[in-house]
Amino acid sequence: MQALSCTRCPLHETRTQVVFGRGNPAASIVLVGEGPGRDEDREGRPFVGAAGQLLDKILAAVGLGEEDVFITNTVLCRPPGNRVPLPAELDTCRVHLEAILRAIDPPIVVLLGATALKAFFGPKAGITAMRGQRLERDGRAFYPTFHPAALLRDPSRKRPVWRDFQRIAADGRLIQVAAAQGDATGSPSPAPDDGESR
Ligand code: SF4
Repeated sequence: MQALSCTRCPLHETRTQVVFGRGNPAASIVLVGEGPGRDEDREGRPFVGAAGQLLDKILAAVGLGEEDVFITNTVLCRPPGNRVPLPAELDTCRVHLEAILRAIDPPIVVLLGATALKAFFGPKAGITAMRGQRLERDGRAFYPTFHPAALLRDPSRKRPVWRDFQRIAADGRLIQVAAAQGDATGSPSPAPDDGESR
């Protein structure tokens, strides 16, 4: 796998290893976070620290396990000090993210936090305004929601994220049923009214 030896951007100089992804490479739901942190850099798997454990709990609460999702990041190498990836790093690593999406071809992509949202919808996209929406692009449905690390900092964000994942799981089930019946489109569930800005 080419990405595992990638030296395209300066992040390769400080990483321990490339953190490619975890989960099912045939999943119908791909989750994209920001970038590997210290624990992920050490273990070679994304979302294994406190934020990752919270993400796994949220997924389990809506009936999704590791076999139902593939989890990756906008950059595959740890930015030093866990800083936000630079625009040039995002642009350079994009080739790997696009290859992952081409290979898995998921109907649903969950954008975990501002960096993932901006990577797909541009620098003006704001996570607080856009979370909870379902955005269509390139035949996929994109669901921006808060990053689990943001929930650890601000537990008041757990409720809207819980609603987002209920909807994502419901839409994933609808798509699976539609695919089994030969209808590739499926019908999205209505957005829950949780009183949050959208
Ligand atoms: S962050 Fe992405 S582009 Fe940069 S070295 Fe790592 S794999 Fe390559």
